[in-house]
Amino acid sequence: TVRTRFAPSPTGFLHIGGARTAAFNWAFAKRNKGIFVLRIEDTDRERSQRAYEEAILRDLKWLGISWDEGPDINSASFGPYRQSERMDLYKKYFDLLRARNVLYPCYCSKEELEAERRSLLRQGKPPRYSGKCFYLSEEERKEKERSGVIPSWRFRIPHGKSIVLQDLIRGEVRFQSEAIGDFIVWRSDGWPTYNFACVVDDALMRITHVIRGEEHLPNTPYQLLLYQLLDWEPPQFAHVPIILDENRSKLSKRRKSVNISELREQGFLPQAILNFLFLLGHSFPDGRELVPYQELPGLFSMERIARSSAVFDSKKLIWINASYLRMMDAEEIKTGLKELFSAEEIERWEKEAGGSLRMAKILKLASEEANTLRDVGERIQKILFFKFSVADGEEKEIVKLFCSALPGLPVNCWENEEAMRNLLKKIQKESGFSAKRFFQTLRMALMGCKEGPGLDALLVALGRDKVYEKLCGQGR
Ligand code: GLU
Repeated sequence: TVRTRFAPSPTGFLHIGGARTAAFNWAFAKRNKGIFVLRIEDTDRERSQRAYEEAILRDLKWLGISWDEGPDINSASFGPYRQSERMDLYKKYFDLLRARNVLYPCYCSKEELEAERRSLLRQGKPPRYSGKCFYLSEEERKEKERSGVIPSWRFRIPHGKSIVLQDLIRGEVRFQSEAIGDFIVWRSDGWPTYNFACVVDDALMRITHVIRGEEHLPNTPYQLLLYQLLDWEPPQFAHVPIILDENRSKLSKRRKSVNISELREQGFLPQAILNFLFLLGHSFPDGRELVPYQELPGLFSMERIARSSAVFDSKKLIWINASYLRMMDAEEIKTGLKELFSAEEIERWEKEAGGSLRMAKILKLASEEANTLRDVGERIQKILFFKFSVADGEEKEIVKLFCSALPGLPVNCWENEEAMRNLLKKIQKESGFSAKRFFQTLRMALMGCKEGPGLDALLVALGRDKVYEKLCGQGR
């Protein structure tokens, strides 16, 4: 069976790039009736935080990405799913490698390594470790030990080897072992490095496909070497193109709006974001862009992942979000709003609207031209609570005129937008004001803004009493 995994480090919030990786792995597993594993890579003890882990799980669930095995699911077979709880396993394979004499202790301090790196860069050479600790004599080693330096352990890269990756997206990628420095497997602080822990876990968790960001491509030769060394069959790799921002530079994790939780705050819908993720370096057949949740896994295909970088197009995200908003019924919109506004607030709206039926109409109306749930909320507030105050001469005149025409309007026009529209036109024509001036003034008086839903629909949604109250004063 196909087994994929998403392996976030809990050192920050789930961002667009990570979410896309998760989405692809989720979809690939689903599509192949496989298993999707969530693994928490928390070996960086300084930067890992439980709160981030919780936030990542929450955001994944919110997006609709569910896993079959993970830290919160007690599936006996391949756990635990948090690297910090798998130390005995890493230790076991670390000892095995040591016994095979392929590792050597490195006593270089951070400062020394940094100095070496900088000097290499200055000379225009690739900044890889010189391997100097490999050449220490037994005596020198003892000397270091005596002075109390705790070593890290490096893997000695065999020279003259070429490491070949058959990447599912990039095709054949070759790495020359000379180009790779001896890398650390075990850190001096007693923890395994990412490359080592990752290989041990992917192997023991029987991962068959590793779909991950292209920024990890340079790690892959190290990992392939470790698979060889440990006599394990490597998984298939698929490196997905990096995501660039609108200025064609690498999407910065520091940019706030790339965090899923931030997008939620801004009023984006989970199904819209998830859909959008599949358009970042991946495309659907026949140029389709809007693909409902249930169809996503089935329409995901590794063959339709691009090699060239993806561009984060925030306009597209907005368009998708607006499209999904348009497809939702009032009840769904209300559910969405509950994530952004308190239950009391929404109750207050409903009361102000005069019941759930009217509220439903207003919800639909408010979401017609809205891009996000935030917009919907703001529009609702305007529609319900905007209070018209003294306007200049002409505006006042228009409102007055309209108010005096109101009592004469037949009851049925309050239920029928078309009837309302015809009556409005009639009143406008008789008023002598231009249509633009007339309708804009009334919308302005009702909602406090020029743009918005059609006046006819707005009046019908609000109902006669509310319109009186808002425009013509309590006493009519
Ligand atoms: N913990 C790594 C990351 O968050 C996972 C990389 C991988 O998928 O191998 O980038």
